[in-house]
Amino acid sequence: MDDYIERLRSGALKLYALEKELPPADAVRVRRKFVEEETGTSLDAVGAFSIGLDPVVRKNIENMIGTVQVPLGVAGPLRVNGEYAAGAYYLPLATTEGALVASVNRGCAVITRAGGADVRILRDGMTRAPAFAARSVVHAREVAAWVTEHLDAIREAAESTTSHGKLLGLAPYVAGTTVFVRMEYDTKDAMGMNMVTIASAKAGEVIERETGARLVALSGNLCTDKKPAAINLIEGRGKTLVAGVSLADDLIAALLKTDAETLAEVNQRKNLVGSALAGSLGFNAHAANVIAAAFIACGQDAAHVVEGSSCITTVERVDGGAYVSVTIPSLAVGTVGGGTGIETQRECLGILGVGGGGSPPGTNAKKFAEIVAAGVLAGEISLLGALGAQHLARAHRELGRG
Ligand code: NAP
Repeated sequence: MDDYIERLRSGALKLYALEKELPPADAVRVRRKFVEEETGTSLDAVGAFSIGLDPVVRKNIENMIGTVQVPLGVAGPLRVNGEYAAGAYYLPLATTEGALVASVNRGCAVITRAGGADVRILRDGMTRAPAFAARSVVHAREVAAWVTEHLDAIREAAESTTSHGKLLGLAPYVAGTTVFVRMEYDTKDAMGMNMVTIASAKAGEVIERETGARLVALSGNLCTDKKPAAINLIEGRGKTLVAGVSLADDLIAALLKTDAETLAEVNQRKNLVGSALAGSLGFNAHAANVIAAAFIACGQDAAHVVEGSSCITTVERVDGGAYVSVTIPSLAVGTVGGGTGIETQRECLGILGVGGGGSPPGTNAKKFAEIVAAGVLAGEISLLGALGAQHLARAHRELGRG
């Protein structure tokens, strides 16, 4: 151990090269000891973990020194009436925000007592939009026309890189001499970002060769990955879902301690007017809270909470109660690939019965997405209820403060 630390200190050995000389467990231990000594910090807690290292250091992390543990709770039972998820589920949520799980749990109780959340997937397609440089605006329009007319050739190239991915379609966008080709893929049970990046690189070669436009960037930011963007809100990216439930007046009074009129007013003034005035891309109370906690628990890419936060919540006054819905335009989820194979995350997917590839492929990711959408609805109902009943500060004082 001392010998390696000495070489790291002298610069003779690079931190990232430890796995070339040592098995993963030893490499991680030496690196952690080096950081402890360099920074004068004990990392005993960071070094205590249960997950296997071999696949993780190959696929999920570089320069690993340990893990950070995030408390995990469940909200439920949550009844979901989806096309892929049908039943009552316990939604795993990893968070350090006190009161969050309690709040979602209350929303789950309301939904389940109301007969369940109806959930539908409106659209399903992961996107990549490479940017090409054309010679002139005239050439740019020719390139845009060419890609539209040669979908089959582009599809053949893209799909040669994957046994699961399917190119669903594409849309060219022109700005000056730049042509963006926004390609949309069915990625089955994978969230699909690596899959569509590899497939789009192959497609990009064909476009470059046949049109003379120069491929400048495989991701041209019109995809749009991990940035707030109206295109995702309008066109969708990953899975686009709606979830809704009808709440009767007596249920709202008994469980939320408020009434339908108040729920509708809070939603209209806060989620719709307030968000509009703020120039927000999210017209909801806290969709990102549920999405972030479910994503961290279930091995999703946490940066995709950005897209997930663009959710629209509606509350309509109906005869005898209120109809509450959430529309989530962009939910990037998978049950294979990424962080889904790490033991703790895989167990969380297992709680929902969606670990690994579905039969047929794609059905597990769709089921998972439907459950998360129902969880978002639960979170919205509970927070709107707390605001309506003027309970929000009290709940945080009692549950979120030490
Ligand atoms: P991945 O782990 O790179 O690949 C998943 C692979 O699993 C698929 O490509 C597919 O292989 C295979 N597979 C097996 N069974 C499948 C099934 N039932 N459905 C679908 N695929 C199945 O995962 P990914 O979802 O493509 O990418 C996720 C990762 O990308 C995350 O780690 C994320 O952080 C990262 N990411 C990458 C970028 C980027 O620009 N590259 C951007 C954001 C995030 P075949 O293709 O051979 O069929």
